[in-house]
Amino acid sequence: MPVTTTDTTTETVEDAATTAASVPTSTILNASWVLLPDGWHQNMAIELGSDGVIQAVRPSTSAADADILVPGMINAHSHVFQRTLLGKTQRFQRPEDDFWSWRAGMYRQAGLLTPKSQEEMAFRAFAEMISRGYTSVCEFHYTHGASRMDHGEMPVLMSEAVLRAADRAGIRIRLLPVCYQHAGFGQAALRAEQRSFGLNTNVYLQVIEHLVKESDLGPLQSVGYAPHSLRAVSLDTLHAIQDHRNANLPSAPIHIHIAEQVREVNECVLSTRQRPVEYLMNAMSPDASWCLVHATHMTADERAKLIASKATVCLCPTTEGDLGDGLFPLADYMQEDGHWAIGSDSNVCIDPAEELRMLDWQQRLVGRKRNPFRFDSAMSASTRLYQSALEGGRSASALPVGRIEAGSHADFIELDSQVDLSRGCSPDEVLSAWVYSSHPSLMKRVIVGGSVR
Ligand SMILES: [Zn+2]
Repeated sequence: MPVTTTDTTTETVEDAATTAASVPTSTILNASWVLLPDGWHQNMAIELGSDGVIQAVRPSTSAADADILVPGMINAHSHVFQRTLLGKTQRFQRPEDDFWSWRAGMYRQAGLLTPKSQEEMAFRAFAEMISRGYTSVCEFHYTHGASRMDHGEMPVLMSEAVLRAADRAGIRIRLLPVCYQHAGFGQAALRAEQRSFGLNTNVYLQVIEHLVKESDLGPLQSVGYAPHSLRAVSLDTLHAIQDHRNANLPSAPIHIHIAEQVREVNECVLSTRQRPVEYLMNAMSPDASWCLVHATHMTADERAKLIASKATVCLCPTTEGDLGDGLFPLADYMQEDGHWAIGSDSNVCIDPAEELRMLDWQQRLVGRKRNPFRFDSAMSASTRLYQSALEGGRSASALPVGRIEAGSHADFIELDSQVDLSRGCSPDEVLSAWVYSSHPSLMKRVIVGGSVR
């Protein structure tokens, strides 16, 4: 439903260049506190267009109809179907249990999917994301079901099932159909359990074109590209994908899993004589439109090159912890002005606050110090982390989200300043209380595209 205001102020915003027939009607949302890109502001009016886009943000003297508004978080990396694995993969099997043994269970789960079950799983996961404060998701979708495909439509059916689920849940989505062609470096053939992910390059690009041109994308929906990883696609395929993007969807992002596991790094070195980030930098010259998911294992030289490229790293600390991936040196990376976003990845946890505090606590545990990021003390570390993750999510999704400013989508979380955990706190402290507790009493409403979800 549209966001409601207590003073029911509705006014017409006229632009000199706009004809009367197309004059948008705006709703004014007056908030006690708003987190803008430059920090906290008191008593602000946010003009929302009927298209769900913010038209203006300005000081207000009207009574507040919203408490503390912060931008909704962007979930920059998710595989919704893996949500059902979380309780089934925690029993000791053998001393070598790791990402690769977990993956076998994931393959079994993926092999059971149909468009109907895909849609239901996706709907439940997306609805949970909304309830926890994610207002956008980049869904890295590789369960195309191609092994059971009778004709060319199956990969599109599975993608459309995900889009329907997102529409039902009311979440903004950048669907990233995945190109997955090989079982490992050296272009090894897909194994039986991977075949349902496989699409040749032509079919993959047809899926992208079909989704953009014929799938009737909703106002919250867009499509991007996702070569799965350096082990799953060749350099030729990477170039074909980038060329297609440049020619057809130049504003779409490209996401890739890059260096999650030490074994993957070692296999890349054996095959290419370069480490994964090094190889990608040299071969593809990624820019700000690229998102490198799990750039966990990098040398200082790789890290410097990645930061210079302006690409975003997507960190998924709860999944990376669950799978024993390794630790990303976030404090050093932030000191060097690296861009980063957060993702729920396997969805072992769906909670942006928990992802952020885990990133912080990882650094505290390693450094045996509190406040490891050495921010200036004008705002709390949690607000700084929240804002950094918003900016990274905005870049990774290539969508106008993550900021409360004119031209951005009206995607907000409203925090409550009048409950036990927040009463008497500044807005900065309320956001901190939420980031370090995830307490449901602190969140009042989630708004996507100007509508309460
Ligand atoms: Zn992933």
